Amino acid sequence: MSQHEIIIVGGGISGLSLAHYCVKAGLQPLVMDKDDRMGGTFNTCRRDSFWFELGAHTCYNSYGNLVDLLRETGSLDQITKPGSAGYKLFTENGIKSITSQLSIPEMIVSLPRMFATKMAGETVESYYSKVFGKRNFRSAIGPMFNAVICQKSNDFPADMLFKKRLRRKEVIRKFSLQGGLQSITDAIAADPAIETVAGMEVQEIEFAANVFTLTTTDGSCYEAKYLALATPSASAANLLQKPFPEIAKKLAALQAEKVETLGVVVRKEEVKIGPIAALAAQNDIFYSFVSRDTFPDPCYRAFAFHFKTDAGSREARLDRIAQVLGTRTFEHTTSAKHVIPSLRLGHKQTIAEIDGLLAGTPLLLTGNYFTGIAIEDCVSRSLQESRRVAR
Ligand SMILES: Cc1cc2nc3c(=O)[nH]c(=O)nc-3n(C[C@H](O)[C@H](O)[C@H](O)COP(=O)(O)OP(=O)(O)OC[C@H]3O[C@@H](n4cnc5c(N)ncnc54)[C@H](O)[C@@H]3O)c2cc1C
Repeated sequence: MSQHEIIIVGGGISGLSLAHYCVKAGLQPLVMDKDDRMGGTFNTCRRDSFWFELGAHTCYNSYGNLVDLLRETGSLDQITKPGSAGYKLFTENGIKSITSQLSIPEMIVSLPRMFATKMAGETVESYYSKVFGKRNFRSAIGPMFNAVICQKSNDFPADMLFKKRLRRKEVIRKFSLQGGLQSITDAIAADPAIETVAGMEVQEIEFAANVFTLTTTDGSCYEAKYLALATPSASAANLLQKPFPEIAKKLAALQAEKVETLGVVVRKEEVKIGPIAALAAQNDIFYSFVSRDTFPDPCYRAFAFHFKTDAGSREARLDRIAQVLGTRTFEHTTSAKHVIPSLRLGHKQTIAEIDGLLAGTPLLLTGNYFTGIAIEDCVSRSLQESRRVAR
């Protein structure tokens, strides 16, 4: 049985940033992930020097804790600025500009309501329908937000979708990293003080005499004084059922959406649509695609299509991609699965209750289902949880 000070289950940005903060606190963490690579939603598909993102793609200088993390892991000088390419809407009449789908008179009537309407207690649909008008929300604003969070955004709490954060003026406003965003998680995982094990799914957790015992699907056992779960909420709920049933019950009540991403690399001359950063679908089997056009390559273009779970077979999805791009000649195809929280009104209260139950225990919880799904929300939650462990 291998023994550790702290084991972190889940090697996405939440788990790895927590590992980094644990090292700063003087601990030697072990991070385990069921996938055969670390990074979770930081998933850069690399083919020689060409890369494109299957998951997270953009960071902002308002991500202050992330900026500090990049500095501390030596990644800050790899920041790179995306070129300009527009965001568009995919309608039943093909690709259209966002403004073409907006009613300007409705906008002029609605926008002043922004000053009288508070976000707190409102859903995305109720708040933005007031501010932009119902028709505008349906035809353009809603689909754009669906694309941002890869799910129908209507019932999401308005104040948890976008947040005002201080900008770090020393860093460019919007950025990726040379080699893609997975370079961030790669750099954290490369710290020799952090031990990582990929391809290892934790199946069961016991907690007795102040020691956690973890059993993995291959039957291996690990012991730790502290345990952190940095997995989607449903996985955390399953694992905590026996040792922390009250916390497990609250976690099990949280909702999430499964998203299947299909990425294609295409020769430039084959693609029939012009340069485009991202496309949001008004009503289709996919929510959106994100392209690599903001980092143009002389030979190739790449597109990551984020599909709804009921989008049909892989063949049906490839057919839809072919229709959108105007070609079925793909140089390379690849796929990824993501789980993304579907937050609802009252979520902050549930999190406060979970935090109340965690207080005083050697169990840490982090992830994208606490304060929001943005990368900065994950890193900030991990920083906050790391303060509960100290040598
Ligand atoms: C398609 C997409 C694009 C996005 N783009 C952006 C963006 O551009 N900017 C932005 O700010 N945010 C973006 N987000 C949101 C943000 O990227 C995610 O919220 C964040 O990366 C989630 O990180 P995480 O570590 O909490 O979870 P994950 O990345 O999901 O990591 C959880 C890990 O836990 C592992 N795991 C689960 N169960 C077990 C188990 N039993 N044993 C071992 N391991 C387990 C999983 O394999 C996984 O690797 C995007 C999200 C998606 C889905």
